[in-house]
Amino acid sequence: MKFIEALKLRSKLFFLFMLVTSGLITVGVMGAVNIGAMKKNLDSLYFGSLVPVTELNEILQTYHGSLVNVVYKAKSNEISSQEISLQIRTSIDKINRQWNSYEEHFKRNEELQYVGYVAVEINSINDYFLNILKLNEQKEGSLENLSIKVLEENVAYIHKTIKKLIKYEVEIAMYERKKFLVTYDSIMREVGLVLVTIILGVLIISFYVFKSIQNDQTKLEVATKKLKRANKKLENVSYTDSLTSLHNRRYFNFVYDKELKRAKRERKFITFMMLDIDFFKQYNDTYGHIEGDKALISVAKALKELLKRPSDYVFRLGGEEFGVILSDTDEKNSAKVAQKICDDVRSKAIAHKSSSVNAFVTISIGVVCCVADDALDEELLITRADEMLYDAKKSGRDRFIITTDVSDAKELVA
Ligand code: GH3
Ligand code: MG
Ligand code: MG
Repeated sequence: MKFIEALKLRSKLFFLFMLVTSGLITVGVMGAVNIGAMKKNLDSLYFGSLVPVTELNEILQTYHGSLVNVVYKAKSNEISSQEISLQIRTSIDKINRQWNSYEEHFKRNEELQYVGYVAVEINSINDYFLNILKLNEQKEGSLENLSIKVLEENVAYIHKTIKKLIKYEVEIAMYERKKFLVTYDSIMREVGLVLVTIILGVLIISFYVFKSIQNDQTKLEVATKKLKRANKKLENVSYTDSLTSLHNRRYFNFVYDKELKRAKRERKFITFMMLDIDFFKQYNDTYGHIEGDKALISVAKALKELLKRPSDYVFRLGGEEFGVILSDTDEKNSAKVAQKICDDVRSKAIAHKSSSVNAFVTISIGVVCCVADDALDEELLITRADEMLYDAKKSGRDRFIITTDVSDAKELVA
């Protein structure tokens, strides 16, 4: 069944369809052929045996019922001479017709000789009746002296002769019937066997096809799961900064938009912080770029460790600049977080001998905190945070400056 496995799903279904269809066609053709054969058998049983027997019986009936009767009536002058002639003629014609029809049916070789003999006997007894007819036509009343004995002997002889033929035909009919029953039984057995074989074949192959389809389905499910996992990984990669493992600018754009909308909808606080390492150019110049990268990683780690709530977000926005979004946090608490960031970065104790504000690496932060409403401009938080950062740098670095003044917004937080 390897070739089934190799087929595509559509081909598998088509194969199944073809299998069932050809099975049905085979059963149909077999049924038609066998019914045809049975019809032929029944036909030969009816026309080959039953009809000939009926015809022979009718011939006998005509001899006994019509011809003998006419002669008896003629002898006792019960009917007229014309009626006698008419009845004899009609009866002989009928007998000849029946006999001709009987002779036309299929005959076996072994019966041909006896049929020929019966034909001669029929002709001879018919001649006997035709002589009676002649006598009647020659002279009225001439039949009165006709010998009953001869009549009865003749009729008894033809009776015996035809009865023998009937007996033979009945035997043939019985033989044919027996043969038919045997043929019928064998046809039924054959049809049954073929039917069972076809049904079993279709069932077995269908089972393999379905199993194969099921395998395909499982493989597809596994592949889909793998693909989903790979997509998730890819998504993570595309949203993550490779140096610090913080969320990157792309993800910031997405989260900033989402969080701002949510704060606007719920009329809640939103805080945005812009962070920039102090004198980092000098740091690179002093310790080299690789050490600069390590310092960036350390700062990122400090930020990550501090901002652990699910609604807190830290991003590396580019270079030595970071962004923080806090949800539902008022000015006081935002200020606390900003201060803690400055303290935590400083307490990492990353030596920075060329800094003019501290012996260690420090950070400056511009913070903006407000209750969002529909009128709040989307860019304003970023602009204001940037301004505050500039102020923090100007006023000595290693600090934060916070504002709640989003002058374009309707509501101001005091
Ligand atoms: P300020 O206190 O005013 O911020 O001084 P600054 O030297 O930090 O000023 P500026 O923002 O102009 O300098 C940023 C420096 O950060 C410039 C660049 O050498 C460094 N930098 C930016 N990205 C990276 C990075 O990925 N790795 C390293 N090692 N240095 C970076
Ligand atoms: Mg900078
Ligand atoms: Mg800087």
